[in-house]
Amino acid sequence: MTALAASRMVCHECDLVVDIPELAVNDKAYCPRCSYLLASNRPNAFSKMFAYSVAALIFLALANAFPFLSLNASGHEQSVTLPESVAVLFNEDHVLLSAIVFATIIGVPAVLLLGIVYVSIAIRLPQGLPGTRRALRWSLNLIPWSMAEIFLIGILVSFIKIVSLANVALGMSFWAYVAFTVFLILVLINIDRREVWRRVQAVRNG
Ligand SMILES: [Zn+2]
Repeated sequence: MTALAASRMVCHECDLVVDIPELAVNDKAYCPRCSYLLASNRPNAFSKMFAYSVAALIFLALANAFPFLSLNASGHEQSVTLPESVAVLFNEDHVLLSAIVFATIIGVPAVLLLGIVYVSIAIRLPQGLPGTRRALRWSLNLIPWSMAEIFLIGILVSFIKIVSLANVALGMSFWAYVAFTVFLILVLINIDRREVWRRVQAVRNG
């Protein structure tokens, strides 16, 4: 566990320029004018970010491998996997929609997490890894385009609607996707942009 170096930053809320002292583990720095949380030194934030990213990627892979939902209406049962549900849109000529759905629920979160894993490895290696800064910039820019949690809420709402029409069972992939979303949220909570950038800046070849 290491202390966070002293730095100067502008408060996101009130634009006050604040000198932040060195922060020991579990220390937090608040804006003296508006009490906004400016920085915090969470214990093992980088190890957690790495571990949660790997766990999220594993659950995302599992979510694509097994039945997501199965429907049983008048004796006819059909189950669908996550990639199949995107393919259905594609086959019904909703090409753009299927691309957006694929990107926001699978593609973007996967690239974002791979980028974070790459950056987490790069900042631990003495010789660094090429393209670390670009990987971090891309990962951070992709965060608003990841909509896993919105997709889950949508699934639950439609689940409540369909359940009166047919027998619907949630498959293993659904639960894997729930676990993936939880880990993804944990990754996003644990990213301290200021500190990640500071570490990446120090990476050689980055
Ligand atoms: Zn402030």
